[in-house]
Amino acid sequence: MAVHPRPPRSVRLSLTDRCDLACVYCRPHRKDGYLEERLEDQAWKAMMEGLVRAGVRRVRLTGGEPLLHPRVVELVAHLAELALEDLALTTNGTRLASLALPLRQAGLRRITISLDSLIPERFFQLTRGGHLGRVLDGLDAALAAGFDEVKINTVILRGCNDDELEAITHWAWGRGITPRFIEVMRVGEGANLPHNVLVTAREMQECLAPLLVQGDAVPDPDRGPARYRRALHDPDRRVGFISGTSDTFCERCDRLRVASNGVLRPCLATNDGVDASLPARSGDIFAIERAVAEAWALKPDGRIWKGCTESTAAEVSMRAIGG
Ligand code: SAM
Repeated sequence: MAVHPRPPRSVRLSLTDRCDLACVYCRPHRKDGYLEERLEDQAWKAMMEGLVRAGVRRVRLTGGEPLLHPRVVELVAHLAELALEDLALTTNGTRLASLALPLRQAGLRRITISLDSLIPERFFQLTRGGHLGRVLDGLDAALAAGFDEVKINTVILRGCNDDELEAITHWAWGRGITPRFIEVMRVGEGANLPHNVLVTAREMQECLAPLLVQGDAVPDPDRGPARYRRALHDPDRRVGFISGTSDTFCERCDRLRVASNGVLRPCLATNDGVDASLPARSGDIFAIERAVAEAWALKPDGRIWKGCTESTAAEVSMRAIGG
């Protein structure tokens, strides 16, 4: 453990651990079970206020699938009133066609859509039943809604979708979207895949090198772990790489997670945490603030700790903790 000089600045809220897809690296099948309880709306609202009181300034809603929460728009509107620096959401996009505009109008600023293939049959297999057309409709709705930024997340698996790196990049750039390619991490079901499915960020960059300006990929200040390189043909186009396996990013991690049952989790790669569901349910934002400090004290020392390469990561459910 390390004493962290700053409070957590950024938080990911797993609004629900439910998901309508079962991506092959995330969960073993569609019926793998859910947490026994989830925070109610009022408790989520108190949690949000307690987090802001504790110093959080950037919030991303995730899950599970956050758009399965029946009142996600209302919860976004509540967050939008809290004077945050950033308010973003990660979704699989299956319900985005009808929700993109209401979310934007409620104050959501940025959106990331997970999209692992542009080939419908492959997409269906990777997500165990997802329909690519629905997600693309959602993506079009997000573009039309005028978010500050639309990105896609693509987990690359060797022998599965690694032949789509270039096609996805061109496709995304053509729509003004930033593609981000992610190394599969040995978290949850990802730990059960053969080791050789990993395509490293270095390999991905080598593959895309003819499209990119030479040089190192660089992170955006005060944002997540992605590192970006610019397109050769247009300095406004970029591609991101997230290397949670070949290289960890724990040292500069300022992120806390709130699982859908109200447990505050200081690290994606362990099940350590502090249960803040009681203060959230009783609306005690000062007690939530104290629970945040307690959880933050459990954050592993990022100079030594190697994040999702640690063996504890295999025990973690991405859906519950908020991937
Ligand atoms: N349901 C939403 C979605 O699909 O974007 C949000 C939750 S999902 C857990 C968030 C992100 O985690 C997705 O982009 C997904 O691809 C990524 N993810 C899940 N398991 C992963 C793993 N083992 N390695 C790398 N990324 C993973």
